[in-house]
Amino acid sequence: MGEKGEGLIFIISAPSGTGKTTLLRRVMQELSGLRYSVSYTTRPPRANERDGEDYHFISPSLFQKMVERDEFLEWAEVLGNHYGTVRKDLAILKSEGIDLILDIDTQGAKRVAEQIESTILVYILPPSLESLQERLTKRGLDSPERIRFRLANAKRDMEEARWYHYVILNDRIEETVEKLKAIIIAERCRKRKNALLEGKMR
Ligand code: ADP
Ligand code: 5GP
Repeated sequence: MGEKGEGLIFIISAPSGTGKTTLLRRVMQELSGLRYSVSYTTRPPRANERDGEDYHFISPSLFQKMVERDEFLEWAEVLGNHYGTVRKDLAILKSEGIDLILDIDTQGAKRVAEQIESTILVYILPPSLESLQERLTKRGLDSPERIRFRLANAKRDMEEARWYHYVILNDRIEETVEKLKAIIIAERCRKRKNALLEGKMR
């Protein structure tokens, strides 16, 4: 939440099924000054998802056109679908001085961090691959075959956590919510350090 100037950008990544959606809903309810960056995707909406809120659901041909027009700050293919973050949306939100949450994968995180140095990278880990399998089963959205595919991807994906600034283990959800809130609050303090000192020392 920038009182002046640009807001912060927090990227949150995790293997599918780790609990990221649950976590981000909670943190956005409990902390003010945060805005969720709504991505564009070619994936069809799930039963509980709303266009314009969870994602902008678009056709593969429109996605391709947007790629050709260089409208994406980053885009990636994740588990067979395309996902992207639009430059314009991010620029508008950043200029409002609001802190942004980007729920994007590791490929996208790398692209954004290369272009915007101040990006804060947070990776959420499941307690184990067994618990990830349980959560994916409990979520009830995928076939057993699709769950095996997600688990194989999860192993590879977690290797990428090494270059993130923060890693949180999502064991008890209450604790995970508190840890992510603590990171956001600490980064806000760090950003305001100089402005605060200038004001006090004058
Ligand atoms: P993601 O967005 O990472 O794919 P979800 O938020 O949809 O994951 O969570 C997947 C499933 O795991 C959901 O049924 C959710 O209620 C459950 N879940 C999330 N966090 C935890 C946790 N810390 N402990 C146990 N179950 C969890
Ligand atoms: P899901 O289909 O489960 O909502 O998301 C699948 C994966 O795509 C998640 O890892 C999510 O973080 C990622 N994702 C969502 N939006 C974007 C985006 O705009 N860019 C990139 N690179 N990944 C995204």
